[in-house]
Amino acid sequence: MIDDLLAGVTPAGQQLLIDGDWRDASDGAALTCINPSTGEPIAKIAAGTAADVDRAVAAARRAFGGAWARVNPAERTRMMLTLADLIEENLLELRTLDALEMGKPLRLGPADPSGAADVLRYFAGWTTKIAGQTLPNSRPGRLLSMTYREPVGVVGAIIPWNGPWGAVLWKLAPALATGCTVVLKPAEEASLSSLRIGELVQEAGLPDGVVNVVTGKGETVGAAMAAHPGIDKIAFTGSTETGRQIVRAASGNLKRLSLEMGGKSPDIIFDDADLDKAVPGAATGVFSNSGQICCAGTRIFVQRAVYDEVCARLAEAGRGMRVGNSLDPETMIGPLVSQNQFDRVRGYVASGQKEGARLVSGGERVGDRGYFLPPTVFADVTDDMSIAREEIFGPVASVLVFDDEDEVLARANDSEYGLGGGVWSRDIGRTMRVAQGLRTGTVWVNTYLHLDPGVPFGGHKISGWGSSLGPEAIDGHTVTKAVWADIAP
Ligand code: ADP
Repeated sequence: MIDDLLAGVTPAGQQLLIDGDWRDASDGAALTCINPSTGEPIAKIAAGTAADVDRAVAAARRAFGGAWARVNPAERTRMMLTLADLIEENLLELRTLDALEMGKPLRLGPADPSGAADVLRYFAGWTTKIAGQTLPNSRPGRLLSMTYREPVGVVGAIIPWNGPWGAVLWKLAPALATGCTVVLKPAEEASLSSLRIGELVQEAGLPDGVVNVVTGKGETVGAAMAAHPGIDKIAFTGSTETGRQIVRAASGNLKRLSLEMGGKSPDIIFDDADLDKAVPGAATGVFSNSGQICCAGTRIFVQRAVYDEVCARLAEAGRGMRVGNSLDPETMIGPLVSQNQFDRVRGYVASGQKEGARLVSGGERVGDRGYFLPPTVFADVTDDMSIAREEIFGPVASVLVFDDEDEVLARANDSEYGLGGGVWSRDIGRTMRVAQGLRTGTVWVNTYLHLDPGVPFGGHKISGWGSSLGPEAIDGHTVTKAVWADIAP
């Protein structure tokens, strides 16, 4: 079944989608995809080149000024809704491809596919509502002044491997809704579901060139996109270091950027919290997807009176999460995405121990093949330790003790990052004070990790620029044009 699935990913396998055609990389090169549950190769993808990016950008530009511009807003809505239905009809296949290629457990997705593509439906509703204004002016004579909100143009979407099919939809939805065209570059560790979505885009009837998919290496395809004069905006999700490189590369044509990057999110548990909610909530917040989530709540601050109890219960919650092959429906914690990532996370476990943190649970490799690490809890972590400061991107919780509200707020904000944050308490005033005080793009109160297409999601500080969701994502894909007309008789 899996061989059939992989064989059917693209019409001819190993190809790029450019201008509605599936074609080989310009030099015919390919990359091998590895299944992180076994360490074995499972498929090949085309290793795109700068020349392929040129072709994809040219196709996207033609579609932007041509076929896509002629599709009216209501028709764009219909096409996006058709695509949403197709995504849901094929959801199990998309999730299986991601499970095979980057190890996200199959059970981590919605059991019922309906609603899984709602991000497309939310943005599909915007197409007919992106309006300018007629504005008063005080110039002499009779002058009419008004604004149009126009699509920014060709969008280069660069996505990571940690939630592949979902990340593709997050990028496509606001771009298509605003009338932009797209060159999509999936991560080299997880490209198969993006290619399958490329096929579904064709099936949904979008004109050729509106969505192009160029697989390949970040330093080749991604870098060529970031520097490309024919791309008007890069919508990037990935590491802060790559984000910085994109900022530098984008300076040539000063393309617009939205950047969704790393985090070291604080999750604060006060001693009056409902621990039956807080502990499982914090455990899900830090261990889900093996901790490979940018807004994972990795710095768990716990008030002194409940500190020992929370450490013990978190460790217990972690031990209760079944580690295993991502295709096994019982698996809650799959492998880390690659040998590299596995080595990196193990390096952090070693440095936590060396710096004096107390390993309460986990830390040791599970099995002898694949890249499995169980939920790992460190207690007695202090603010200066690398496991409290740096993004680990693995299932590692750093638990810190605190005494009072002002102190914990200051410590929680003492980070370069500002993506997510959580607060658990029965005192509503306190939760709202902390929510106001945290310098992060999202704060969850007595819960963690909820996202919705209509609610903005973005980072403060080095966690990012702009928002991937909500009305702000429409703003980020449009430019305003003022039009003046002399209407004197
Ligand atoms: P991670 O560390 O999570 O893999 P990266 O930031 O390296 O995150 O990767 C996110 C995406 O950025 C991937 O699609 C990757 O190929 C791409 N990428 C990597 N390097 C560059 C670069 N120099 N310019 C543009 N994109 C890049």
